[in-house]
Amino acid sequence: MIYMDYNATTPCDKRVVEEMTPFFSGRFGNPSSIYTLARDAYKAIEQARGRLAKLLDCNTNEIFFTSGGTEADNWALVSSAFGLRNKGKHIITSSIEHHAVLHTCQFLEKVGYEVLYLPVDKYGVVDVDVLKQSIRNDTILVSVMAANNEIGTIQPIREIADIVKSKGVYFHTDAVQVTGKTPFSVKEMGVDMASFSCHKLYGPKGVGALYVRKGVTLPPFLHGGGQERRKRAGTENVAGIVGLGKAAEIAVSEMAEEEAKIRALRDRLEQGVRENIPEIIVNGHPEQRLSNTLNFCVKAVEGEAMLLHLDLDGICASSGSACTSGSLEPSHVLIAIGIPEIMLHSSLRFSLGKHNTEGDVDRVLEALPNIVEKLRRMSPLWQ
Ligand code: PLP
Repeated sequence: MIYMDYNATTPCDKRVVEEMTPFFSGRFGNPSSIYTLARDAYKAIEQARGRLAKLLDCNTNEIFFTSGGTEADNWALVSSAFGLRNKGKHIITSSIEHHAVLHTCQFLEKVGYEVLYLPVDKYGVVDVDVLKQSIRNDTILVSVMAANNEIGTIQPIREIADIVKSKGVYFHTDAVQVTGKTPFSVKEMGVDMASFSCHKLYGPKGVGALYVRKGVTLPPFLHGGGQERRKRAGTENVAGIVGLGKAAEIAVSEMAEEEAKIRALRDRLEQGVRENIPEIIVNGHPEQRLSNTLNFCVKAVEGEAMLLHLDLDGICASSGSACTSGSLEPSHVLIAIGIPEIMLHSSLRFSLGKHNTEGDVDRVLEALPNIVEKLRRMSPLWQ
């Protein structure tokens, strides 16, 4: 099998699994209890917090563990909206956010907030001028993702943060897709809040974190016990958090080397696709793009049909995001970057990772042009 869907999820690194395993049975204490077994679990959580803080370049007390990227996004948006409701009810985000942000914004609209969805250019970059003009006295939060999961475009986060913060407004970024792929310092980027997820980082699913800059007031989202310094109730997912810490530690030491290797493989794949498949559109920014992501539309061929044929050849890819696969709705990201309607259902996304090899790329390049040719022969849209 060739796996090229690392933006959907990643396999756990063996070193991560090894470090997590004792916390399921032997070291099973509840971190809130007082005996030695429990203190051991507590210490493991704090060690993980330290490791993640190093990857994100922040203080340990600015990290709050969550059940993943979705919870972190919901927390940042819903609790900001609730906490700042007396200041205003205007929120700004981009039109290409993950559904964890978009659907949360739609929920907030239903309960009386006003949300502006910023347009993007043909590469998926947010229109900074529209952003500047759109911040109002009653704007309480701006949320723009660091990198897009479908097309890989990286936003000018530092520039956006400067604009937003000069107006005294909080800035949140969904940093789920950049983490572990390319260096991302929350301090250098100047963000107030940032969401992270472990399963995109060679760690387990169901665990993530929200960075909340010291000085930012964010009410709790989950209420109950006093965990996470009374900000996020619920007995901690100790094994998962330990896994997140280990995954972060590995990323700190290996990310630069992996990024260069993966970029070379992605570029080889992109070049091969361009040379061997006529009439395609490559989506996303030519340079400001995640080093592992290649998304393109293939004229006159359904994305789902290509995926099924690739699967028969043992190749795992995606037609966009894992969350929209299986739905007949075209991708909101491709609509936002202006892909013509006729091409909207014909996208493919390959997202590479650290286990891919040149041999994998070559096998995809052997299989895909034949699949496209076969499907085009049957397509009424192809002449
Ligand atoms: N944000 C982005 C950009 C993502 O790609 C994802 C996952 O696909 C999420 C949020 C959701 O993260 P999780 O799966 O940890 O809830």
